[in-house]
Amino acid sequence: MKDWQANKLMPGAIIPKSGTAREYKTGGWRSKAPKWNEEKCKQCLICWISCPEGAILVKDGKVRGIDMDYCKGCGICATECPFDVIKMVEG
Ligand code: SF4
Ligand code: SF4
Repeated sequence: MKDWQANKLMPGAIIPKSGTAREYKTGGWRSKAPKWNEEKCKQCLICWISCPEGAILVKDGKVRGIDMDYCKGCGICATECPFDVIKMVEG
């Protein structure tokens, strides 16, 4: 450890500028897609706070849909929804 120096390490991931997440469309990773049932939705917004990609679309305090450009199909929203409103399906 006494010879360790940060400047001798190879550079890892480099983010050359900030605010680029919008350009990085994670929807391409998806093997399954969430299917949201608007009629059954209780608008508790738990899916919205749980989604790691911010892909749950909310307007005026209500879920309006899912942005498939950014939904990576992780299924967290379906797992966390207490009312079984979101199902993961092929696609
Ligand atoms: S499947 Fe994952 S990425 Fe897609 S909306 Fe649900 S929580 Fe977000
Ligand atoms: S967690 Fe379920 S009930 Fe709550 S807003 Fe999302 S889809 Fe609707």
